[in-house]
Amino acid sequence: MIYIGNHVSVSKGYLAMGTHEKKLGGNTFAFFPRNPRGGKSKAVPDEDIAALREFLINNRFGKLVVHGAYTMNICAAKEEIRANSREMLRDDLIKLQALPDNYYNFHPGCHVGQGIEAGIKMIAETLVGVIDEVERESGTLKNIILLETMAGKGSEVGGRFEELKSILDLAISLGGESYRDKLGVCLDTCHIWDSGYDIKADLDGVLAEFDKNIGLDRLYALHLNDSKNVCGSHKDRHEKLGEGLIGESTLISVVQHPLLQGRPFILETPNDDDGYAKEIATVKSRIIK
Ligand code: FE
Ligand code: FE
Ligand code: ZN
Repeated sequence: MIYIGNHVSVSKGYLAMGTHEKKLGGNTFAFFPRNPRGGKSKAVPDEDIAALREFLINNRFGKLVVHGAYTMNICAAKEEIRANSREMLRDDLIKLQALPDNYYNFHPGCHVGQGIEAGIKMIAETLVGVIDEVERESGTLKNIILLETMAGKGSEVGGRFEELKSILDLAISLGGESYRDKLGVCLDTCHIWDSGYDIKADLDGVLAEFDKNIGLDRLYALHLNDSKNVCGSHKDRHEKLGEGLIGESTLISVVQHPLLQGRPFILETPNDDDGYAKEIATVKSRIIK
């Protein structure tokens, strides 16, 4: 069983995202609970969320991978941006308590000149503080929070597996052992390629390095993207599957890799609905059952 889908718009509501994804041939999806560039998120009627939950069960969907806003930067240098980002994170997590057993992934952040170490510390501290607040307000966290592997563009934190490991380790040491099950990683194929992990030459080696640092048991979801640029370019420009420099055969090997089975694969390729439907069909047809 492969779980594959793409980013869908929340503009028509929650159930509408499920029915739309089904039409495209997918059985998981990602969405921004608010405008991806930040800003206020609408309140969601309980019935709409309940209807989506029922739809997901009835249609045997995999876990969803909800995406935090791009503008969120919990390790920003400016206090105001940090505070706003923290509030977005808190608000998203509270809202998603109504949609349990899924994933919430976000970009760890940019340290903007403060240094990787300072960034890692702010991210871990903020995560633990926000999770504590959410749990006081609405009970045990019901979704797993995933840090996304980044392309290492500019001052991005999370371009190296070691950096994500440091954030997870620090969060666990600050928050306690229970944090091990609240946090994980979402691997973006375009991002790790751009960051310098050559999955085309040595996919097994890259996964072994992930396992050595973070542990594959903490890899919960993947973003399946080709890249417009060479390995190590630190650019972060996604490309359609097979039209970029990673190439279709490597991306299919990722989907088929025995160590990655059962996880949701989310397409974030530059596509319209037809393009997504085609990519989903291509991936499914290339999978050896
Ligand atoms: Fe992302
Ligand atoms: Fe991504
Ligand atoms: Zn990206």
